[in-house]
Amino acid sequence: MIRQIVRIDESKCNGCGACVTPCAEGAIRMVNGKARVLREELCDGAGFCLGICPTGALTVEAREAPAFDRHAAEAEMAWCGATYIAQTCHVCGAGEDTRVLLPCRKAGQSLWVCTCCLPALIHG
Ligand code: SF4
Repeated sequence: MIRQIVRIDESKCNGCGACVTPCAEGAIRMVNGKARVLREELCDGAGFCLGICPTGALTVEAREAPAFDRHAAEAEMAWCGATYIAQTCHVCGAGEDTRVLLPCRKAGQSLWVCTCCLPALIHG
């Protein structure tokens, strides 16, 4: 099936590994110093890992991929245990410890936006 899924540009990946833990479903793993979507069925294509990457190596594209397997992803998350990666507002930089953040999609990007900045994002 054709669906939205994370793409990793290997030429841009510096191997920092920052995207591995934020991928709660466990789809991204490091292989020979580069990030890879090892199990495509675990990637839901939401793209909330994109903002983590310091080099812009992560994007979301539409391509042939196995369907997202929610049961496998939940099993992976249970096996890995809970992780806490603090997010920040894409607009003002406020952290989730001080403001409520909501996941948003705009112009093909996945963004975390705080409730103070959300109205401006909606209304321009
Ligand atoms: S965060 Fe970006 S640069 Fe770092 S390992 Fe992941 S894809 Fe590579």
